[in-house]
Amino acid sequence: MIENDCFFCEWIEDKNRRTQILKNELFMALYDDCPVSPGHSLIIPKRHISNFNLLSSVEWKLLQETIIQVISSIESTDLKNIYQKFLDNPPTEFSTWFCQKAIIHPRINTKPDAYNHGINDGRAAGRTIDHLHWHVIPRFDGDMEDPTGGVRNVIPDMGNYKLPR
Ligand SMILES: [Zn+2]
Repeated sequence: MIENDCFFCEWIEDKNRRTQILKNELFMALYDDCPVSPGHSLIIPKRHISNFNLLSSVEWKLLQETIIQVISSIESTDLKNIYQKFLDNPPTEFSTWFCQKAIIHPRINTKPDAYNHGINDGRAAGRTIDHLHWHVIPRFDGDMEDPTGGVRNVIPDMGNYKLPR
C-alpha cells in the first residue's frame, strides 16, 4: 500500500535511494540522514502503516531478522565513507550538521558497545512521519555523561530513577 505525500513510501519505491542499507520482501532499511550516532538506522515496513500493532505476525518475524541484518551491516560498513557521501551531497537540508558530527565521532567505524531500539508510536511520542519506522541507534561507552535509564530519557530528567530527589 502506497500513501501519497509519504516520504517513506516514496523512498521504498526509489531504487536508487542513497541512504538504503537493504531491502527485502517486506522491509527497507536505511541510514538515518540526521544520525544521532554513527550508524543510526531506520527499518521501515513496505506497507504504509502507522502503528506497530498493525504489523502482521509474518512482518514481526521478518522485522527481527532485518534488525539483526542491519546491526551486522552497521558493524561491517565504512560509515565514514557513507557520511562523506552525505556531506558531499546532503540528503536533506538538515543532514549536514548531523553527518559532520558522525564523521568526527571518535568511535566511528568501531563496533558499538550497545544499541537503543525504538519506535515513536504516535505523534505525542514524537513521531513526525506517520509511517512506522524502527530506529536502531548505536551507543558507545562514554557517549553521554550518564546513560542510565536509556529510553527513559525521552522525557528530560526522568531517565535515571536512581538519582536522589
Ligand atoms: Zn508511507
